[in-house]
Amino acid sequence: MPATARTLGKDATGASQHNGLPASLRVTHPERVIDKQSGITKLQLVQCYAAMAPLLLPHLKDRPVALVRAPDGLDGERFFQKHAGPAALAGVTRLPREIDPSHPPLLKIDSLQGLLSAAQMNTIELHTWNGTDRAIGTPDRMIFDLDPGENVDWPRTREGTRLVRAFLQDLGLPAVLKTSGGKGMHIVVPLRPQYDWETVKAFSRAIVLRLAQALPGHFVARSGPKNRIGRIFIDYLRNGFGATTVAAWSVRARPGLPVSVPIAWDELDGLPGSAHWTLLTLGDRLATGNTPWAHYDSSRISLTDAMRRLDFRPDQGA
Ligand code: ATP
Ligand code: MN
Repeated sequence: MPATARTLGKDATGASQHNGLPASLRVTHPERVIDKQSGITKLQLVQCYAAMAPLLLPHLKDRPVALVRAPDGLDGERFFQKHAGPAALAGVTRLPREIDPSHPPLLKIDSLQGLLSAAQMNTIELHTWNGTDRAIGTPDRMIFDLDPGENVDWPRTREGTRLVRAFLQDLGLPAVLKTSGGKGMHIVVPLRPQYDWETVKAFSRAIVLRLAQALPGHFVARSGPKNRIGRIFIDYLRNGFGATTVAAWSVRARPGLPVSVPIAWDELDGLPGSAHWTLLTLGDRLATGNTPWAHYDSSRISLTDAMRRLDFRPDQGA
C-alpha cells in the first residue's frame, strides 16, 4: 500500500482493524487498481475518502451533487451521474422532485455513510451545485473557473489568477482559491443567497467580459480552444442552474489521482501547479485542511454593491 494512502486510513480513524473503514461497509473488488500511474486500488480510494471525509463533507453539505463514476478505473468507461438511479445508495439522499421536475431526483451526500457508499459505487469525483437545498433558487456562491489555453504556462496561470482576484477585490468581493487538480484554478466568491441563478450568472459574465476587455492579452471570455491560445478562458457558465464544479477535497479521475485542495492566497506564488497534491502526496496537507478558507462563511457578501460598481443592473438578464 502506498505510504500516504496507508497513513490516511489510519489518521482519520485512529484504528486500522477495518482498514480505517466502518465495519458495516463492504468494499467489492477492493484490490482492483483504479489508476496505473499511482497503483492505487479501489480499497485505498475508499479509505482515502474516509480519511478526507471531515474536510470534504462540509463542502457537500446541503448541495445537489453529481458523481463521476468509473467502475473499471481510469482506463474504463465513465459515468457522470446527476440524478438518482434505480437503486438507493445508503446515506445518499434524494432531493425533492420540484427542484428539477423534468428529471429523476437530484442527489445529496451529507454523511460519512453516503460518501463511502458513493466511493464503493466507484465514485472518483464529486461535483456540487452553487446552491443549497435550503434556498435552491438563490445560489450562495459564484465560481470563476480559470482554464489556461494552449501555450499558457503555469506562471502565467498564476498571474492570471492573481489578476482575477485583484479585480474582484476592486469590486469589493471576497474570494477564496482552490486547485482544480487539473490545469487551472477555481476562484470562489461566497455569497449571501439573494439573487437568482440568471442574475448571478449574468453578473459573473459581466465580470469576465470586463476582464477580457481590459486585459485581452491574458483573458478570453469565449470558449473554444482556438480563442484560448495563449490566454486563459474564464468560465462563468459554472454559475448557471444545474451547473457543477468539482468539490474541494474531491479526488480527480486523472492519472496520479490529483485532489482539489483549498489554498490561501499567499500560497499561490509557491504553488508548483494545480495538480500539485495527489492521493499519494496529500499527507501533511490534511492537517492544514480547510483553514485557508476559515473566513468563508463570515465573508459571505451581497452582490448589490459590486453590481453597482460595474454598472450592472440586476434586471438586465443574460
Ligand atoms: P481543469 O483545471 O483541468 O480545467 P476543471 O475541474 O475545471 O479542471 P473539468 O474537469 O474539465 O475542469 O470540469 C468539467 C466541468 O464539467 C465541471 O464543471 C463538471 O462538473 C462538468 N462535467 C464534467 N463531466 C460532465 C458530464 N459528463 N456532463 C456534464 N457536465 C460534466
Ligand atoms: Mn477548469
